[in-house]
Amino acid sequence: MAPSKQDADIVLFPFMAQGHIIPFLALALHLERKTNNTISIVNTPFNIKKLRASLPPHTSVSLLEIPFHASDHGLPPNTENTDVVPYGLVIRLLEASTSMRPAFKLLIQNLMDSQHHRRPLCIIADIFFGWTASVAKEVGAFHVIFGGCGGYGMACYYSLWFHLPHRKGQGDEFLLPDFPEAGRIHKTQLPANIAEADGSDAWSVFQNKNLSEWAKSDGILFNTVREVDSGGLDYFTRKLGLPVWAIGPVVLSTGSRLGGGVRAEACREWLDRKAGNSVLYVCFGSMNTMSGEQMMQLGEALEESGRDFIWVVRPPIGQDINSEFRAEEWLPQGFVGRMQESGRGLILIHWAPQLEILSHKAVSAFLSHCGWNSVLEALTHGVPILGWPMAAEQFFNCKFLEEQLGVCLEVARGKSCEVHHQHIAATIDVAMADHGKGAHMRSQAHRLRGAIADALRDDHTLTGSSIQALRHFLSAAANTPKPRSPSE
Ligand code: UDP
Repeated sequence: MAPSKQDADIVLFPFMAQGHIIPFLALALHLERKTNNTISIVNTPFNIKKLRASLPPHTSVSLLEIPFHASDHGLPPNTENTDVVPYGLVIRLLEASTSMRPAFKLLIQNLMDSQHHRRPLCIIADIFFGWTASVAKEVGAFHVIFGGCGGYGMACYYSLWFHLPHRKGQGDEFLLPDFPEAGRIHKTQLPANIAEADGSDAWSVFQNKNLSEWAKSDGILFNTVREVDSGGLDYFTRKLGLPVWAIGPVVLSTGSRLGGGVRAEACREWLDRKAGNSVLYVCFGSMNTMSGEQMMQLGEALEESGRDFIWVVRPPIGQDINSEFRAEEWLPQGFVGRMQESGRGLILIHWAPQLEILSHKAVSAFLSHCGWNSVLEALTHGVPILGWPMAAEQFFNCKFLEEQLGVCLEVARGKSCEVHHQHIAATIDVAMADHGKGAHMRSQAHRLRGAIADALRDDHTLTGSSIQALRHFLSAAANTPKPRSPSE
């Protein structure tokens, strides 16, 4: 079981999904750079193996395993990550994850026993692991929740789970009773599990318990910037009465990413041939795809727009997302050939070196599902967004970017909505124009890039808000009263 001689000041514990593990890895490496604490990431054997392969060389971040037996919980054997289960089983993986409580507690106790002369341990846990807060209380550790998402998006998501149901009675649009400053939410902006929730279904029961347990924590960390996203942060301060620290943006640097270097080189060469601010980058994150019809319409729209583009494609909904991409079947006839011949479009299958692309001066706009990491990566590089949210809090991220930050134009909503190529092409045109709305979005994106860079500044003229927040969080953790050892 837990290695008793391991050493750690800070233990990070992400939920078993790539979209959660990646921001936690980014946070671990950020903490390693910014502090002199020893840092460990805890997870199940399969995820630890994957993480080990993606750790940069020379890091001191260590990886700790705890056992997890998927088949004890009605899951296929070895199901340890959402990327190997159909969406319908994700809730079962979440429910099953609470079974790690005894093993997690033992691991933390062992760590604390082996270092009881030093500071108390700090646990940084996933938004889905509210239960870890009471483990921390029992053993006398400091505990925070880390939201890899934005403050505004998470505040909407949190509020919606506590005001069920949303299926009937509220009209098409409604205000959140405890977060009215978010503006009106439309029913089409509800993720499927919230739209269907009635308080008694599995998701409602899980989230009610999980989110309620956040209040037992010692604080919340958000991967965001206070100057950009204060409304959502204030919401949590108000709701939970806990410190809320905005420490972002924390993203993996290009050097410590999964995905091939050869592909990055090829993308750079392709982009180097393009004029500044001329290319649209299209990508829907690490796990989403769209319907076959939507993919066809998007292909036609990209061709019709006349703009240069990089498009990351994956098999449409209904197909195995990791299977071979059948371009002749899923894209307009002859599309790939025409785009290659004209040099207008670079079509990448499954995965792109996103940070390298967004940081290239040829990129003008990003058609994105508005996953929070993608949003941070775009804003860090001053790139405006065309939003096509697909799931979870992405709908609220998109709304926030459009209505409150003015850096986004929504193109479509969801994985099953009807879309028309003419509409998509016209929206691309507006966003990429160097006048009117497009120019305004670009100048807002530049302004935000500056605010974000300032938040991370740490020099003799400025200590940015995210650096200050990180220091406040670390000093709160270090000042927790040391738990008494059994012999005292
Ligand atoms: N990503 C990438 N290449 C791809 C797709 C995604 O590098 O082809 C990275 C992207 O840079 C981001 C993460 O995967 O860091 C996706 O996170 P996000 O929160 O945007 O969306 P999710 O995948 O969680 O839906």
